[in-house]
Amino acid sequence: MNIDIAIVGAGPAGLMAAIKSGQAGGKVLVLERANYLGGQLVKQTHKFFGSKSEYAGERGVDIAEMLVKQAQANPNVTTWNNATVLGYYQEDGVLTVKHHNEFITIKAKKIIIATGASEKTLAFPGNDLPGIFGAGAVQTLMNVHGVMPGKRLLIVGAGNIGLIVAYQLLQAGVEVAGIVEAASTIGGYLVHAAKIRRAGIPIYISHTIKKAYGSPTLAGATVCQLDTNWQQIPGTEFDIVADGLCLAVGLTPLAELLWQAGCTMSYIPELGGYVPLRNANQLTTNPSIYIAGDVAGVEEASAAMVEGKLAGLAAAASLGLTHAKLDQEYADAHNQLSALRAGSVSAKIRAGLAKVTLGQQSAPLLEVI
Ligand SMILES: Cc1cc2nc3c(=O)[nH]c(=O)nc-3n(C[C@H](O)[C@H](O)[C@H](O)COP(=O)(O)OP(=O)(O)OC[C@H]3O[C@@H](n4cnc5c(N)ncnc54)[C@H](O)[C@@H]3O)c2cc1C
Repeated sequence: MNIDIAIVGAGPAGLMAAIKSGQAGGKVLVLERANYLGGQLVKQTHKFFGSKSEYAGERGVDIAEMLVKQAQANPNVTTWNNATVLGYYQEDGVLTVKHHNEFITIKAKKIIIATGASEKTLAFPGNDLPGIFGAGAVQTLMNVHGVMPGKRLLIVGAGNIGLIVAYQLLQAGVEVAGIVEAASTIGGYLVHAAKIRRAGIPIYISHTIKKAYGSPTLAGATVCQLDTNWQQIPGTEFDIVADGLCLAVGLTPLAELLWQAGCTMSYIPELGGYVPLRNANQLTTNPSIYIAGDVAGVEEASAAMVEGKLAGLAAAASLGLTHAKLDQEYADAHNQLSALRAGSVSAKIRAGLAKVTLGQQSAPLLEVI
């Protein structure tokens, strides 16, 4: 197969990169390990915030369908699901892929890594009991496979993911026992928190999980209050009965392929963990490898799509695949990203990006770092 650009991951970032690089005339192959395309979007039944240009007001699952249709409508774009990229070999620049039950190697002129993020977990006694899940697993069970994760769930983490999953659990008929949050404030949007509180669900700020108990499966958890130094306050413990525990304690970029590719990596807490250095067009220090979406820094689907656009345009342009509107599209994408990241809630992301973005925001499209 003659491939100009291989894209790893078919979430919003990878799909948008495929749409843009395919429109520029590149022969594109999208490799997705799941048996469906759309990444996290497929699990998101709520309407998105943001601006109209990134599909605000639409449900995540519907956005996924639109992106997949748009990508697959272009004969330049081939999409494979059940295609897990297992490794990248720097010496000859090939990807090794398990496609269904076949092991193959793929060589592309440029590669866009859009593998998203993995969930963080917490260490506490009993955290290996059956019935304890990450928030992504809860969403996958509920919204992809139609399986209830339990009858009564306790959630740890009051960021947007914890709040949204709590609401989705209620919609699925699961009782939510409460949300435990170690910080002294709710991290997610207050509009989501208000919905949860209106449903009568307690949000325990400045609290943490001390242990989980039950045999052979989870029966509940002991929580306790934290002081201003995040130390447990003795005597404040109480038990919450639950047959499920959902950990929504953050995400970290799924960057293994970038390490294998020899990209220069840096630990940036504001972006969720180790991320590669990049220029303003999403090119890493490996001149064949671009990045887009949560793997470049945990953010939101809206930013992932725009980064996908930039990576797709820049990868195509680096192969000489250009068109009359390219400069305009490139400028529009940069403006979109700046607008998305302008508010106070994005201050952390801006700080993180300032540490890993090399060159100027207005760097020429083909600049190599
Ligand atoms: C509960 C929840 C609510 C959210 N709500 C919003 C919201 O309202 N608005 C918003 O803008 N964002 C929201 N987000 C965030 C948004 O979903 C993510 O930021 C976005 O999906 C990131 O896109 P991505 O393409 O980078 O990664 P993903 O969507 O995670 O896609 C990455 C894809 O790569 C695949 N992959 C990984 N490794 C490999 C490999 N080795 N080989 C092949 N394929 C691989 C994965 O299977 C996955 O399909 C929410 C997230 C969650 C969890």
